[in-house]
Amino acid sequence: MTVSVLTETGAGKLFDYAVPPELAARVKPGQRVRVPFGSRMVTGYIASVERGGGASKDAGDEVGVPAQLSLFGGVETPSLRPLATIEDEVPFFSPALLKLAFWMAQYFFAPLESVFRCILPAAVRNPGAKARVQLYVEAVQPPPPDAEAPTPKQAEVLAGIVRVGGGWLTALPKEFSCSEGVIRALEKKKLVTIEPLQRRRDPLARRKVLPTTPLPLTPEQAGALAQIREVLDTPGKRKPLLLFGVTGSGKTEVYLQAIAHILSRGGGAIVMVPEISLTPQTVQRFAGRFGSCVAVLHSALSDGERFDEWHRIRTGEAKVVVGPRSAVFAPVQRLGMIIVDEEHEPSYKQEDVPRYNGRDVAVVRAHLEGCAVVLGSATPCMETWHNVAVGKYAIAKMRSRVAGRPMPAVNVVDMRLETARTGHAQIFSGDLLEALKLRLERGQQSILFLNRRGYATSLTCPKCGYTAECGDCSVAYTYHRADDCLRCHICGAWKPVPARCPECGDPAFRYSGFGTQRVELALQKCFPGARILRMDADVTARKHSHDEILSVFRAGRADILIGTQMIAKGLDFPNVTLVGVLMADTSLNLPDFRAGERTYQLLAQVSGRAGRAELPGEVFIQTYAPGHPAVRAAAGDDGFEPFASQELAERAEGRYPPYEHLTCLTFKGRDEDKLRLTTARYAAELKAAAAPGIRVSDAVPCNLSKAKGYFRYQVILFAPSSRAILNVLQSVLARFPVQNDVSLSVDVDALNLG
Ligand code: ADP
Ligand code: ZN
Repeated sequence: MTVSVLTETGAGKLFDYAVPPELAARVKPGQRVRVPFGSRMVTGYIASVERGGGASKDAGDEVGVPAQLSLFGGVETPSLRPLATIEDEVPFFSPALLKLAFWMAQYFFAPLESVFRCILPAAVRNPGAKARVQLYVEAVQPPPPDAEAPTPKQAEVLAGIVRVGGGWLTALPKEFSCSEGVIRALEKKKLVTIEPLQRRRDPLARRKVLPTTPLPLTPEQAGALAQIREVLDTPGKRKPLLLFGVTGSGKTEVYLQAIAHILSRGGGAIVMVPEISLTPQTVQRFAGRFGSCVAVLHSALSDGERFDEWHRIRTGEAKVVVGPRSAVFAPVQRLGMIIVDEEHEPSYKQEDVPRYNGRDVAVVRAHLEGCAVVLGSATPCMETWHNVAVGKYAIAKMRSRVAGRPMPAVNVVDMRLETARTGHAQIFSGDLLEALKLRLERGQQSILFLNRRGYATSLTCPKCGYTAECGDCSVAYTYHRADDCLRCHICGAWKPVPARCPECGDPAFRYSGFGTQRVELALQKCFPGARILRMDADVTARKHSHDEILSVFRAGRADILIGTQMIAKGLDFPNVTLVGVLMADTSLNLPDFRAGERTYQLLAQVSGRAGRAELPGEVFIQTYAPGHPAVRAAAGDDGFEPFASQELAERAEGRYPPYEHLTCLTFKGRDEDKLRLTTARYAAELKAAAAPGIRVSDAVPCNLSKAKGYFRYQVILFAPSSRAILNVLQSVLARFPVQNDVSLSVDVDALNLG
């Protein structure tokens, strides 16, 4: 009997070990083990178990382990060394998660170890210091007959322990003003037990959670829930379901009732939400309904909290997991459903290795687990919409807001006319100012959205045209007024504002363009009495400030919230009746075939923040391109579906995703000439090696042509399948490995062509 083990040695492949007879009955795939490696012992995880005679493997067989192995150099088999110990009986990975890891490594062209590092948080992999296993004291009730009588002091402490129902060995002495020795003595007399117990550091502990009960559903919600339940009650492999519901249609209530159905059958669920909408509000909606069986995973957790939550999930204590993209790997027992809320969100894509898309991984995991997957959105991405159109995914629609609330009235403001009328570029149109004034008078709240932080987008010399640019990145510095400096939004470098133009010596600089800071100041001038809040990456750097700003706004202690895309997602403020989009063009001008889709999604989502409760909402979209289809669709009543058909027709014509897959290769290097030559050579080799049907772009500088001192070039490959692209790439890389002075990153199904 042998096992294949993935070690944390960076070897990039699996190693086989012989299983000593005394361990044979205990080994299972996914267990953490210790194995000899070179002259030392290392920790590893059993990837598969081979029970003699090369028979079937327990894991990895279905999703192409053979190809995986060829990718990583194969399993080493000569003279097997023995497995040393099994560290944890309960596997760290289920067979389905193991298969998922193999699939991801292959599909996203990533080292298997990098995938395992995603699946198993660092806090779990290196528990040592983090595992706060503490000693828990409990009274033995009733006292055993053979127990020795306690001294008066011991009896007093024992009575205290009985009264409070037990406690930590570190805490009790303080509580009862005694030494630890007194409690140890009680243990000797068999009057208390002292046992190691995992102490749960509860991320919800700071929050008041009010229990909620299921709401009576609207007919559309009931219809959607019935469709989901039908999926849940169908055994075996099922189609993913898109829950396509307009903003405010009550998707969350549908999720909650679907989860309740799963829990009633002893199953568990994962709810993925974009990191940015993992607010107390969202968490409370789940914790309020399901109480302590909810586990929350988010990036602000301490290692200890993460360790505890992970173990609560693995042991089955927590059955509902709410978290961002990494929650897709949660070791939920009897997983019945994965929900991906706001499935169109680009933040589900991880921009580091492994460059996976959490939504797509959710669909594959659901397939491997044989559980249901529900993708929710008011503005689905084109890939998902296409999958519905071709019948791969099922769909449930909710076309109206709950309680017959109207969708907000959307006005498009042509900023070209505003500029002509006033003689110079404006931040606020006259209409928007009027509307803001009205809200202030009525005591209602407004949200202003601008996808640009800082004060001014650039600092230019009016005389010679010099623009202050970062030396290490190909972008202009943004002027930040609060600390009066120039800052690069790519590398974070900053420098003081020069007193004179470094080129011509002119003392007068001009600030052009505007960011959220400038909007805040301009707004304060227009409405001196208004209470204004700003939320962007500059103010939310602190751990809880994001939550704090939102709760101040929610509590009605501010009139206007200005923010970047952070405020666009999933927030539900009942008193907001006005939303202003200051510059719809920022995302339209991106040099990316998805610019229109992104703009539509952003406008529709931001607009969706208005008029969500009893008060009707109004939206103003300021733009220099009022005729753009994405803007018109966001403004019109017919909304998404006609826009999607037109967008898909254009994609089909250009053979862009979702009609073909694309993989983006980014080459980086410090020497631009060398980099250009190298990239051009790879483009040529790829073109020569490409089978018919695979398109290879020329080598061109990226949109962001330099970042942090490295120049960036890219080659994009298109083909009907990602596999076909990787085959070509592998064959070329095998012949021409990437040299040291250039680095290559491979982004399969890239979302950002920067
Ligand atoms: P979505 O996620 O589709 O934008 P939400 O789930 O946030 O919508 O719901 C919008 C608002 O409607 C929330 O305040 C929610 O509490 C409320 N709501 C949802 N379903 C119902 C219902 N059946 N009856 C009354 N209010 C509801
Ligand atoms: Zn920079």
